[in-house]
Amino acid sequence: MSERDLVMIPGPTNVDPKVLRSMARPTLSHTSGTFATIFRETVADLGRIFKTSGVVLPLAGTGTLGAEVALSNVIEPGDNVLIVSGGYFGDRLAEIAINLGARVDKFEVPWGSAPVIDDVERKLSSTAYKVMAAVHVDTSTGVANPAKELGALAQEKNVLFVLDTVCSMGGMDVQVDEWGINVCFTGSQKALAVPPGLTIISFDSKAQRAREQRKTSPASYYGDLKRWLPILTQPTKYFATPAVNMMYALHEGCRMVLEEGLNERFNRHARMASAFRAGAKAIGLRLLCDDSVASNTLTVAYYPTGVRDAEFRKSMQEEFGIVVAGELGPLREKAFRVGHMGNVNRSDILATLGAIEGSLSKEGYEFQLGAGTSAANTTLKG
Ligand code: PLP
Repeated sequence: MSERDLVMIPGPTNVDPKVLRSMARPTLSHTSGTFATIFRETVADLGRIFKTSGVVLPLAGTGTLGAEVALSNVIEPGDNVLIVSGGYFGDRLAEIAINLGARVDKFEVPWGSAPVIDDVERKLSSTAYKVMAAVHVDTSTGVANPAKELGALAQEKNVLFVLDTVCSMGGMDVQVDEWGINVCFTGSQKALAVPPGLTIISFDSKAQRAREQRKTSPASYYGDLKRWLPILTQPTKYFATPAVNMMYALHEGCRMVLEEGLNERFNRHARMASAFRAGAKAIGLRLLCDDSVASNTLTVAYYPTGVRDAEFRKSMQEEFGIVVAGELGPLREKAFRVGHMGNVNRSDILATLGAIEGSLSKEGYEFQLGAGTSAANTTLKG
């Protein structure tokens, strides 16, 4: 892979050199006053990005650790848990909850669809669930699930709501407090445009109470909120060594998100997503999900008949220097995924569509060359 390659996968995303340079600074003592200030500022910025007044905890680890920490603080063995799933990462939430000893029911929708709220409500009313967990944007499908409505439902039924925002936070609006998301987690490497290595988990007062009132210790020692709360109020204390240089990157990354402005950033993501989708459709690609449920962070497109997954992606990378992702689970080799989040700009969108056109053409697919970039340019102009 060349250092000039454009990474258009749904995470990790292209990292701004400013963020990369911040990581090259000397590694400070994790209990020093200087690092404590960086930690405090980062946590405050994360609270603004999450739109929460609850506690926000950045931890060394990836999104999967975030899921484990989120669920393990509020789930005890034997608890009834409902997982709303329409893809690979929803299924993973179920696996983690089962691993924690929960009695798990799944409310499943086909890949590419979003759940109907009335149906979820019926399911939620059928059993005394303690927790409902869902994924905002499932990266296997590109569907943006109705997080706000799910949150309202959970509040109405007095069920704790855990939301995976690994593929949305920083690129699409997530209003943790307003939507009633009791525990929310994300990763550093997607729309926040920081390298992989950190997960961030927020807990509101209800979730903190649930942790306080449990009869058993959380399965995760490292991820026990109770052990981290003193660090959040006094970061010069020690519990476990924070990833100092990754925190520099998150600090810089959050600053860049807030400098752009959350609304401006969400609008940019929306513009880039609709330009990409317009271009893909003009090429004749069939998209996995309908525009009405499509996320602004990634798009999944089926291959036209005869186009081979490995050869297409090899051409994208070797001949055009653009990396796109294959699919997971049942869509493996049938579709590909393009991430358009983080620092994505119009040149990235146009270059990616141009490369897709070149690579599809090489695979023998017939269409009007230039149709995709032209449609995207028209959308961007409007
Ligand atoms: N949840 C979603 C929606 C994801 O897209 C991912 C990773 O792509 C994860 C969870 C797991 O995150 P990680 O790979 O950082 O462990």
